[in-house]
Amino acid sequence: MQETKATAATTAKGFTRPEISVVVPVFNEQENIRALANRLVGVLTPAVQSFEVIFVDDGSRDATLLALKEMNAGDARVSSVVLSRNFGKEVAIAAGLDAARGDAVVIMDADLQHPPEVIPSFIAKWREGYRNVYGERIDRAHDSQVRRFFAKRFYKLFEAFGEIALPPGAGDFRLLDRQAVVALQAMGERARFSKGLYSWIGFKSVGVPFDVAPRAAGQSKFSYRKLTRFALDGLMSFSSLPLRVWTYVGTAISSFALSMALYFLIETLIYGARAPGFPSLIVSLLFFAGVQLMSLGILGEYIGRIFSEVKRRPLYLVAERIGLQGEPLRAEHGLTNPLPMRLRTGD
Ligand code: UDP
Ligand code: MG
Repeated sequence: MQETKATAATTAKGFTRPEISVVVPVFNEQENIRALANRLVGVLTPAVQSFEVIFVDDGSRDATLLALKEMNAGDARVSSVVLSRNFGKEVAIAAGLDAARGDAVVIMDADLQHPPEVIPSFIAKWREGYRNVYGERIDRAHDSQVRRFFAKRFYKLFEAFGEIALPPGAGDFRLLDRQAVVALQAMGERARFSKGLYSWIGFKSVGVPFDVAPRAAGQSKFSYRKLTRFALDGLMSFSSLPLRVWTYVGTAISSFALSMALYFLIETLIYGARAPGFPSLIVSLLFFAGVQLMSLGILGEYIGRIFSEVKRRPLYLVAERIGLQGEPLRAEHGLTNPLPMRLRTGD
């Protein structure tokens, strides 16, 4: 079914729509992108009729941009979208999805941790009719101990309280059918927790196991601060429990306080007034002040997110396009002016 779709892939604008687009977010990856592009071209040329590789330069400050230009000069199938600054990996992926015109889109990291050699097995699954094919990493041996520990805690927490299930081991390395891409584009969230979104959209999904390679060059671009932010985004956009739990905590504490009051009243009536315990007073005072501040903080987290959603700023801004022919399938400004479905899919 997919094959017939691919051969008839010429849009009204007159350029040929590739069968596969590969979207790669890059942030300071000058040492890695050439090797990645070479391996991608080597793997994809025999596997598909046509393809495009789209690097999304997420505000790199090294020689990435220069390399991207040279690569496009050498091979027109390697193009890029250059964002106006660093917007973060999640947003860079969204920008790449907007620029991609393939019948299916593969998303992968630039650091060669996601081996391009796995892509043909993704494509095989897609041709079988799966629309959401995700790479399942077999282990996290290349992450640090601390990071693995926190990742595990996070996924346990998400499993308990999140509104959707995340398939274990699934990450950003995946293939999405055009239908799934259109669904993702319809979600204009600013706090983009892609793992949640991929799972939320559903469609016929399947995992393909792969071995995560060590990062080829450079350092991980995720500091613990960024990872914490990311984890919070994930939990808050797919769970309202942190917000609701305070109702229960508050109710429990108030009823406890009420029974205490009753106890003291009876005690006073029977034994008369006693000297109240100063330490316990201070302790309970501080405890409840803490609880209140905490719950205010949780409210603040949600309100902050609501605020950033209602501002409706564009999700990202494009500074430059390198080698991308034709119009993008969707306006670059996220939600502000979504094109009708017919134009977006290019049919
Ligand atoms: N990345 C990005 N913007 C950022 C941070 C990272 O586009 O702000 C890209 C990075 O260049 C790489 C991918 O996201 O292609 C994954 O990043 P990294 O390998 O540093 O993450 P890790 O593998 O440690 O999770
Ligand atoms: Mg990496």
